Amino acid sequence: MNQCQDAEALSQDPDEVGRLRIEAGGAVQGVGFRPFVHRLAVSEGLTGFVRNTAEGVALEIEGVAPALARFLARLEAELAPPAAMRARRVRRIAPTGQRDFSILPSRQERAPDQPRLPVVLPDLATCAACLAEIREPGNRRYRYPFTTCVQCGPRFSLIEDVPYDRARTTMRRFAMCAACQAEYDDPRSRRFHAETNACPRCGPQLRLWDAAGREIAAGDQALLGAAGALRDGVIVALKGLGGFQLLVDARNDLAVRRLRERKGRPTKPFALMVPDCEAAQALAEVDPLERQLLCSPAAPIVLLRAREGAIRFSPATGAHGMGGVPPSVVPSVAPLNPWLGIMLPYTPLHHLLMRELGAPVVATSGNRGGDPIVADETQALEQLAGLADLFLVHDRPIAHPVDDSVTRVIGGEPVVLRNARGYAPLVLSSNDESDASPTLTPNPNPTLALGGHGKSAVALAYAEQLVLGPYVGDLEGVRARTAFAGGIEAMRRLYRVRPQTVACDTHPDYHSTQVAEREASAVQYVPHHLAHVLAGMADNGLSAPLLGVAWDGSGYGGDGTVWGGEFILVKRDAYCRVAHLQPFRLPGGEAAVREPDRAALGALHAVFGDAMFDDASLAALPPIAALAPRERRVFAAMLARGAHAPWTSSAGRLFDAVAALLGLCARSSFDGEAAIALEAAATCAAGCYPLAAPVLREAARRIVADWRPTLAALVRARLNGVDAADLAAGFHQALAQLVVEVAARVGEPRVLLSGGCFQNALLSERAAAGLRAAGLAVWRHHRVPPNDGGLAAGQAAFARHPLMEEKT
Ligand SMILES: [Zn+2]
Ligand SMILES: [Zn+2]
Repeated sequence: MNQCQDAEALSQDPDEVGRLRIEAGGAVQGVGFRPFVHRLAVSEGLTGFVRNTAEGVALEIEGVAPALARFLARLEAELAPPAAMRARRVRRIAPTGQRDFSILPSRQERAPDQPRLPVVLPDLATCAACLAEIREPGNRRYRYPFTTCVQCGPRFSLIEDVPYDRARTTMRRFAMCAACQAEYDDPRSRRFHAETNACPRCGPQLRLWDAAGREIAAGDQALLGAAGALRDGVIVALKGLGGFQLLVDARNDLAVRRLRERKGRPTKPFALMVPDCEAAQALAEVDPLERQLLCSPAAPIVLLRAREGAIRFSPATGAHGMGGVPPSVVPSVAPLNPWLGIMLPYTPLHHLLMRELGAPVVATSGNRGGDPIVADETQALEQLAGLADLFLVHDRPIAHPVDDSVTRVIGGEPVVLRNARGYAPLVLSSNDESDASPTLTPNPNPTLALGGHGKSAVALAYAEQLVLGPYVGDLEGVRARTAFAGGIEAMRRLYRVRPQTVACDTHPDYHSTQVAEREASAVQYVPHHLAHVLAGMADNGLSAPLLGVAWDGSGYGGDGTVWGGEFILVKRDAYCRVAHLQPFRLPGGEAAVREPDRAALGALHAVFGDAMFDDASLAALPPIAALAPRERRVFAAMLARGAHAPWTSSAGRLFDAVAALLGLCARSSFDGEAAIALEAAATCAAGCYPLAAPVLREAARRIVADWRPTLAALVRARLNGVDAADLAAGFHQALAQLVVEVAARVGEPRVLLSGGCFQNALLSERAAAGLRAAGLAVWRHHRVPPNDGGLAAGQAAFARHPLMEEKT
């Protein structure tokens, strides 16, 4: 890297003293980059300086040519993660005769000729060295819950402004004691210029409050008090890194069900925190890649397959410690679900608490259903009143609330399903190899993208960079909308841009669309499913042409119908909806999202027509059997006349319909519940009932994938007593085969799988395997979520390089 540039800057004369100026972007702030440079320069006998700038770092080094050359080589070779340099520039300047090497105060002004976004680093889980210190009796940080160093600790969640310096973080209220200051000033220390540096004498403190906010205990006693309460089945609200979590003993059924009742969350799985990786392996199957994810600096929630017997009603409920009983969690943690969302402790506070408990706890976002995560302790008392019995809080303010991230390994590749703590803000940069890509074209005008309505997140495109901000949540309630506005403001402030153009979805009723129309002078509307595909392309650095398979629950179609089973061909300057699923009616429209039975009735109507309600052979199907005579008449009329029953081509709704037909899920209390039930059944199935793939036909020069024969076969087999799980597996196989057949018919050899449906590992793996077997190349999302949480990235990519719609 940069060798030509380096050679040019270096003198041929080994005795000549030269001075080089180096500017670099990337992950270079808050990761110990300046101390690293300082040590390197001093060890090579060089003088000069290093400083943070608004875009990254600038440094100058002075000395003889061989030393300068060694410095440049070692700068590349010895820089350790999480630090990473990007866009390094080296040039030769006149020597100044400087006598020492120093770290200079940050400069906020940016170079006018080089538009570049500053890097804001995500939060980092506790490193091994800090962990060892808090466990070492006699160490001055023994059991101190806010121990950090240049390698670890909060970053994005406490950064108020750039460049990254303590004075621009929420740590500025804590003046370092003499011992901490000495570490901060010592180039040999791990805490040299560690902006979050703190100790029990000078840093943040822990408190335990009752529900009225009265202090019960402080410091270590607060931690021990919270641990004791958790063992007794009490619900504790914990102020963690990016916001509050609600904790409860995962072995105590009564306590977990109490939390469900209070949160109004009957079935949605709760995430778990376990003391260490071994505890995770005791509860779930963990392959090497999953282990790597669990233990990574991002420390996300990883969806893992529960071990046999790990989810069970345990007689040990309420007992202290494991007591020799094999580790387990109660079924109410994740009802009827073969997967567990597990994370490891990621702050010293979590490590200390989990060590005290020695058992898994439920660790779910501290919020009320639909609200964003609560990040302030006084707000927590009010907003989590009646939810938590105790509050374990601290006095380090959270500048940017950020939830726990969620990941899953699909087909041997990690996929981020929720881009939040540890990953956000996510930076996607263009690289030289893919300059033909429509998603990576540099754009001199900063553009803000506002995403969708559910799983909201905002993105920013500027120059050759694209930044996806953290998951905010669903934009239904007032609090979520306030948090969304805060997320937009954070992007503008942290990245120091005032975007003129705002990109949004084409759905007129999305809150984000309305905000765009209210606030921007120029609005760029991006079709929902195209945004999914572009998000996946930006994620993978892919160029056109490419066939995007965008399958999800619903998105605005622009033709009066609801889309969601789309095949979009992306070309260099245009896109085209080349294929879609056979549409069917959704009785009650949006109501069908919560009631998969409705989707099933609509799908059955597409197959059997008005006769479906009179056909005695179908009466045993759960969605029909569940209807009272009056309801049956209402649905019959709705479907016959098409009143309040919009057309949809949604793959998500088709999966819902099959889940309902197989009796797996009649009503869903959370997004994706029916699809998860269907995937769970298929994953646990003994066999795979062969179902023919949907039939392809051409209509208006577009391919329509007609799944009706597939569904008819499934219904007949079910009524003949075929096992529901085997049918669920067969249905996955048939739809995966459909993806392969459409791709072959379209004739585009490169395929991208996008949209919320491809969070389904079985569907994604089967489709990818089929595509590869057919000689096609296939990609899936990795860092940008395939669900609506990634839409903003696709919208931002579109704003950089708009595509024309090509009608078929
Ligand atoms: Zn550390
Ligand atoms: Zn201190």
